Amino acid sequence: MIAATTSSARKISRKSGNAPSTMGSLLDAGAFEFVTSAVEFDIVIVGGGIAGAGLGWALERRGRIVIIEAEDRCGYHSTGRSAAFFLESYGGPDVARLNRASQDFLDHPPPEFSDRGYLRRRGALHISDGTAIDLPDGVESQPVDRATLTEWLPGLLPQWRFGRFEPGCADIDVARLHSDFLRSFQAFGGQVWTGARLASAIWITDHWEIRLDNGTAIRSRILVNAAGAWADDVALRSGIDPVGIQPKRRTVVQLRVGQLGLKDLPLVIDADQRFYFKGEGEQTIWLSPNDETDCAPGDAAPEEYDVALAIDRFQQVVDWPVEAVERRWAGLRSFAPDRLPVYGFEPGGSHFFWCAGQGGFGIQSSVAASWLAAGELTGERSHSQVTGIDPRIFAPDRFRRRPGPPA
Ligand SMILES: Cc1cc2nc3c(=O)[nH]c(=O)nc-3n(C[C@H](O)[C@H](O)[C@H](O)COP(=O)(O)OP(=O)(O)OC[C@H]3O[C@@H](n4cnc5c(N)ncnc54)[C@H](O)[C@@H]3O)c2cc1C
Repeated sequence: MIAATTSSARKISRKSGNAPSTMGSLLDAGAFEFVTSAVEFDIVIVGGGIAGAGLGWALERRGRIVIIEAEDRCGYHSTGRSAAFFLESYGGPDVARLNRASQDFLDHPPPEFSDRGYLRRRGALHISDGTAIDLPDGVESQPVDRATLTEWLPGLLPQWRFGRFEPGCADIDVARLHSDFLRSFQAFGGQVWTGARLASAIWITDHWEIRLDNGTAIRSRILVNAAGAWADDVALRSGIDPVGIQPKRRTVVQLRVGQLGLKDLPLVIDADQRFYFKGEGEQTIWLSPNDETDCAPGDAAPEEYDVALAIDRFQQVVDWPVEAVERRWAGLRSFAPDRLPVYGFEPGGSHFFWCAGQGGFGIQSSVAASWLAAGELTGERSHSQVTGIDPRIFAPDRFRRRPGPPA
């Protein structure tokens, strides 16, 4: 569905393609040579998952903005397939800072955004059969001895001797957070087009000429790549070098087991990254074998092997009989080579903005990541919750630096 102003106005180009450092100068540039009639925006965000929706929301009213989503509904891919937990320690120290900076909003969103929070505490139990349990600095946690472990997990097999409890872990209401981002974005005047796949984009002097699969032409000053597993594909379609975003398949199964009282079970995570599971219903759990199979972007589906692997690993943790596999699904977690997300303008002045590589933490970090990305995109001061986080850690130019001459 498309409802935007079109223009066939003609202006004479007087700018070359150097990147202005602030949104003000981008929005004021006002100097295009329009070749064809096209729908005009200031910012086009490719991808309506949590990354695109969150950034759209954080940009508030800064220009005419559209989110274009290839599927018939936003959230069909990774965002709709997560395990829906908030675990501050997850993703390493730099990501943990984004998680932490998101937490207060997720717990207590402002009333104009939502009348209630998105987190429901359950705590996380990191368990180990020998490997040290290392959590990033600043994450609240306490050691748990074997006796306490078995109180939480009756039937825990004897090799699991070490534990650490992280009380802040919570379930996230992902669907509501995602739809509230989109609702708020639209309330700010943003548009959401579904069934709108970017086919190609060309940077011409000072703007992008964008073509969708359905033939629609869009002209925009800024193009944002929030295409999840397709981030490198969208870059290539826009004449930009990929940064090496690799989609990796992850599987989740819902098991019914011969054990009761599981609904509020903590998230149980192996310190060696071989599995995690959490209570879902009184007798059901969500379980993942922590698989990370490289694949091409697409509609991920679970493989029998990974379902069997999940059950096998689970049976090496507790003695609860597995009664049925009630559901199974898979999704793609997409990582940059250093496993940190990529937020910032592509160097070179083409106004191509990366918002990609959210790996396995894209939901829980989404609030602070969106604030940080919006600050980078507009050149304005970031939200106070993220002023202490150095955005250069996440900038795409880290992949563009050439190695120096040998010493
Ligand atoms: C099994 C699993 C469990 C997870 N568990 C958690 C968890 O517990 N907590 C957590 O924080 N994170 C978790 N994650 C990670 C989280 O789901 C992702 O980091 C996040 O959803 C990524 O959001 P995104 O918007 O970048 O990607 P997506 O949601 O995939 O959105 C990208 C969108 O871009 C669209 N697109 C692609 N190409 C084009 C194009 N050319 N034109 C227009 N649109 C296009 C796609 O259709 C897609 O809808 C999990 C992921 C998986 C798979």
